[in-house]
Amino acid sequence: MISSDKLYAMLLEEYGTPPWWSDDPFTVVFQSVLVQNTSWRNVVKTTEAMGAVPAPEEIIAMDLEALEDLIRPCGFFHSKAMTIKSLAAWWEKHENSDSVPSIKLRSSLLSIRGVGEETADVILLYALHRPAFVVDAYTRRLLSRIGCSFRSDNDIRGYINKGLPLDALVYGQFHWLVLQHCIAICRKKAECSSCCLCSVCGTGLKSMCL
Ligand code: SF4
Repeated sequence: MISSDKLYAMLLEEYGTPPWWSDDPFTVVFQSVLVQNTSWRNVVKTTEAMGAVPAPEEIIAMDLEALEDLIRPCGFFHSKAMTIKSLAAWWEKHENSDSVPSIKLRSSLLSIRGVGEETADVILLYALHRPAFVVDAYTRRLLSRIGCSFRSDNDIRGYINKGLPLDALVYGQFHWLVLQHCIAICRKKAECSSCCLCSVCGTGLKSMCL
């Protein structure tokens, strides 16, 4: 089984240093909810149409219906608007929480309706710069195809932690590279013949992409 540091190095070599989700931490919080059950392209389009993501205090003061209208193209707008409002209040309270352990912040995020493990880890990692690896459908698909089978998302986190330093920058870049790779190459129908991981991937080797 390929180690996580080798996998990271191969993706980094192929795609170069990826961008950070956003320079504005609350944009990450906002978009982490919008992206649930919709495409990233849709999120970008919706956010661009707004001009800028409203500040947390504006969201707190905004009517629920007005927020729903803003995010309507991303679907599930009622539940997403409720979650964004709760997260805006959470952000006001926890934005400067350097002394609070990540495990406590994660548990407090998970207590918010509409925030699951993936969303909580996106916020911890990309908004608060905590080393919390984001396990999503792309990560599970890629690891399973290359031959790294895990029983749970916790086991995937263990695999990542074993090979890589506990570093938010590395974790953020790695997750973004996995997204890039799965959107471009390791799609539902994998393009193994053009894949940089072909020499180390069980699925790729079986399809004789070399
Ligand atoms: S070789 Fe194929 S299955 Fe393996 S990572 Fe690449 S695209 Fe995905």
